[in-house]
Amino acid sequence: MKKIIKLGLVLTLGLFITGCSDSNASETISSQSETIEAQKLTNEEQNATISSLEKTIESLEKDKKADEVTKKNGEETAPAALKDQQEEQKKVQAEQQRKEQETQAAEEKRIAEEKQAEEQRLAQEADAAKQAAEVQAQQDQQQAAQVVAEPTQGQTVYITATGSKYHTHKCGNGVYNPATLEEAQARGLTPCSKCY
Ligand SMILES: [Zn+2]
Repeated sequence: MKKIIKLGLVLTLGLFITGCSDSNASETISSQSETIEAQKLTNEEQNATISSLEKTIESLEKDKKADEVTKKNGEETAPAALKDQQEEQKKVQAEQQRKEQETQAAEEKRIAEEKQAEEQRLAQEADAAKQAAEVQAQQDQQQAAQVVAEPTQGQTVYITATGSKYHTHKCGNGVYNPATLEEAQARGLTPCSKCY
C-alpha cells in the first residue's frame, strides 16, 4: 500500500515537474515570442533608421550634385567675369592714355603759344626800342639844333677874381665882374649851383 502511495507521489511529483516544465517551456516560448516581437520592432526601427539614413545620403548626394553644378557654373562664369574685368581695365588704360595724350598736346600747345607770345613781345619790345631810339635821335637832333640856336654866345655872366664859379647875377658878397660865358668857360669856371 505504501509503495502505491509512494509511486503515486512520485508520479504526482513527476507530473508536477513535467507540468512545471511545460509551463516553463510555455513561458520560454512566450518569452522568445516577446523577444522575437522586440527584435521585429528593433528591426523595424533599424529599417526606419536605415531608410532615414538613405534619405539623408540621397539628400547629401543631391546637395553635392548641386554644389558641383554651382562650382561648374562658377568656373564657367569666372573666366567670363575675368574677361570683362580685363576689358574694363583695357578701357580704363586706353582712357588714361588718351587723357595723358590730350594733356601733353595741351601742354605742347600752351608752350608753343607762350613761345609765340614771347616772340611777339620781344618783337614789340624791339619795335618800341627802335621807335624810342628814333624818337630819342630826333629829340637829340632838335636839342642840338636848339643848343646851337640858343644865344649862348656873348651871354653875360658874373665872376669873382678868386671864385671857381660863374653866376647869372651878383650872387652874395664880394666883387662880381661881368664877363662873357665864353670867357668864364675859358678860365675853367663852372656854373654856380645856386644860379643854374
Ligand atoms: Zn651864383
